[in-house]
Amino acid sequence: MRGALRQIVGLCVLLAACGGEDGGEMPSEEPAAAASRLEAEAVAAAPEANAEVDAAAVDRIAAAAGEAQVRGLDHIRFLSADSLEGRLVGSDGNRKARDYIVGVYRSLGLSMYEDTYVEPFEFQIDEETRQGSNVVGFVEGTEQPDRFIVVTAHFDHLGVRGGEIYNGADDNASGTAGLLMLAEHFSANPPRHSLIFAAVDGEEGGLRGARHFVSEPPVPLTDMTLNVNLDMISHNDSVLYVAGGYHTEALRPVLDEVASASAITLRQGHDSPDLPAGDDWTMASDHGPFHSAGIPFVYFGVEDHPDYHQASDTFETINQQFFLDAVETVKQAILGFDAR
Ligand SMILES: [Zn+2]
Repeated sequence: MRGALRQIVGLCVLLAACGGEDGGEMPSEEPAAAASRLEAEAVAAAPEANAEVDAAAVDRIAAAAGEAQVRGLDHIRFLSADSLEGRLVGSDGNRKARDYIVGVYRSLGLSMYEDTYVEPFEFQIDEETRQGSNVVGFVEGTEQPDRFIVVTAHFDHLGVRGGEIYNGADDNASGTAGLLMLAEHFSANPPRHSLIFAAVDGEEGGLRGARHFVSEPPVPLTDMTLNVNLDMISHNDSVLYVAGGYHTEALRPVLDEVASASAITLRQGHDSPDLPAGDDWTMASDHGPFHSAGIPFVYFGVEDHPDYHQASDTFETINQQFFLDAVETVKQAILGFDAR
């Protein structure tokens, strides 16, 4: 497209030069020199013309991106709706969330392991056996298909307590929606490495889905280069934390680069054992079992906030623009790691 455009611009410059006031200079030039000058002018003029064409393309891309952002917010709205009753592991509302995620994976055409996205597991509470389900799909990498980056986000939350629904919009409908947006992007734009998308269950009270994923992995743990975990990425005005660089220093330059271009403040931290109790998030969410298994992780999340683990963690109390910027930041980080 650009080459053809440049020729048209060159022709226009040629016609303008021949018919214009400057045409008088033409005879004094050797034909080859004139052609060279015109070529130079054409090349000089081309970026502007390209910019016009790019603007149209950018408009289309922006419209598509806008639609993707609307879908992302719709994911949060659906997952945090009262009808899902707080998505407690083992509940009907939790199964509605699971089926919704399956539907999105299917619509995106994500690949599946053993002919299913749903990976059930059992666990014990008070000597009672309960069941949860991870929802797992993948996009095959174009250059290193046998090396895997695993994106995780838990979709369960606290359910109903004292007659109140704990909607868990930030915790963690936001991370799940982010995972679905990333799945949408990367299924259309396959990365170099393969990407596994694991929406995990049973995080609240025990990281159970992530533990199951790591104990019965769909691919060898040694082939997983990185876990990217999203948990609470929508409830802040400006600062998103990313933990993990303390444990794997090689991750830090990529994160520095992403931070410098991010629309929000991406701050590394919350991953050192020297921090006061509770401030080291190394085992605080689903990246914990990956870390225990020796797999590097980056965990994206916000500080605790007044709506954390409250019935007021609803769609109305999240920051929609912050969420969208956070997802874009995570996407850029994945692209940065994938390029390595
Ligand atoms: Zn959470």
